Amino acid sequence: MGACDVYFTIGKQVTSRAELEGYLKKKQEQDREYNGHQEGYSGDFQTVDGVKTDFSKLFTSFNEALQHCLDNTEKWGDALAVHYHDVSVPTSKQELKLQERIKNIYSGLEQMRLVKKTSGFSKCSGCGSRLANTKLKRKVCPLCNGSLLTEREEKTFAKKKAQVQELEQKLVAIRKLNREKAIAKLGVKNVKTLIAGWAAC
Ligand SMILES: [Zn+2]
Repeated sequence: MGACDVYFTIGKQVTSRAELEGYLKKKQEQDREYNGHQEGYSGDFQTVDGVKTDFSKLFTSFNEALQHCLDNTEKWGDALAVHYHDVSVPTSKQELKLQERIKNIYSGLEQMRLVKKTSGFSKCSGCGSRLANTKLKRKVCPLCNGSLLTEREEKTFAKKKAQVQELEQKLVAIRKLNREKAIAKLGVKNVKTLIAGWAAC
């Protein structure tokens, strides 16, 4: 018997408590119809007592809103109603380009880790073992888990890794900015209500 997250959305900005209770009641009836009663562990809104509200913040995405609800509710208690902007922002050309670059660097990093030699031996600087290249797939010592990259390769690897992390941060920042722009453009037109919490299951 655990707790599972439950939620549903209302396609408009509902602020009235009575109206919200009405939506919850309807949802509970639906859940009863679909899932049956199951002695109090139905894992749906039947095990949620009521609905409380927090309209102090207008969330900028569904996920952000859901996280807030789940962080502020508990099993055998009320679900939480919040408002959020429902905007879908298409991926821009700039983002696609960045994604492609990131993908390429990752594939380069992966290539660096592969053993391509089909003869000879590699020496592990960690444990001193002499390892047959035919038995190695990756440049990792099977005995001590140490890296088999040379010092020079390690440096290149670290540099590329730092580069890809920087690009990933840039990508996140661009997405956030595009989202903010879209929200500013739409205003409160696409604000919806999310009711979420924990059910007993
Ligand atoms: Zn080793």
